[in-house]
Amino acid sequence: MFENAPKDVDNAIVTGKSGAGKQPRIDVLVDEYDLEQLSTGDIFRSYLKKANEFDHQGDISELWDDKKESFVSDKEISKKIGTEKEDIILGLKAKYFVDRGKFVPDHITNELFESYFRKKDYRNQVLDGYPRTLDQAKYLLEIMEKKDFEIDFIVWVRNTDEKIIERTVKRRICPDCGKVYHLKYDPPEDGKCKECGVDVIQRSDDTEEKIRSRLQEFQEKTKPMLEFLGSKIPVAEVPGHLEEFTPENVKKSVMSELEKL
Ligand code: AMP
Repeated sequence: MFENAPKDVDNAIVTGKSGAGKQPRIDVLVDEYDLEQLSTGDIFRSYLKKANEFDHQGDISELWDDKKESFVSDKEISKKIGTEKEDIILGLKAKYFVDRGKFVPDHITNELFESYFRKKDYRNQVLDGYPRTLDQAKYLLEIMEKKDFEIDFIVWVRNTDEKIIERTVKRRICPDCGKVYHLKYDPPEDGKCKECGVDVIQRSDDTEEKIRSRLQEFQEKTKPMLEFLGSKIPVAEVPGHLEEFTPENVKKSVMSELEKL
């Protein structure tokens, strides 16, 4: 089966609109090629958690300078929030954007992504949600040249805005194992994860307004990135919506497209 698909994979990218259904396709690649998932969304959420636990009472927008379109200095932020902890400061900065359904600025995202990718020795990763902008793609190509790794292909999960909104407003996630549920199609058991038994949660950015904002970010920033990177790295386009959504069909739809590259 799938004999013509790539055999050894150094790294791969899975991209698409927020909520297009990337996770099941990532699972296929992780399984098929023995890769790990490196998700900038998950990284940002872990920083958000730290920031939320810190329980800053003030409004985060007071850390943002609208005229300069940047944050006030870290020194000023420390004074306002009462801690110098870098993780908390970064978490609050990320929260400002994630909670608005906006992309986190490139310089923050690039630096954070690189530090995590470096820890993995730039190998054996499925990049999930990175790069998402032209500048991020250029940054990735720069480190690719310096560190001599490959990105073998991009899997672009395609889906319509309507299907995505329907999926994401009813999406629930287990905070422990990350398993994704849908209130209608795959509901949790009495509001609890079937594997861990803990209460499932709704992502703070899974409201219709924030999803629409993320979809707009995709059109404006990720589409141009894909056009650029797609001229350098082969792209397999796979459907995010399948009439019969079974693990076998998901795998078939990914691997058969990889065979064509
Ligand atoms: P995701 O889980 O991939 O949908 O990401 C959740 C949120 O994290 C996004 O809506 C952005 O606010 C932020 N984020 C994740 N990856 C990136 C990225 N590559 N560039 C900018 N922001 C990102």
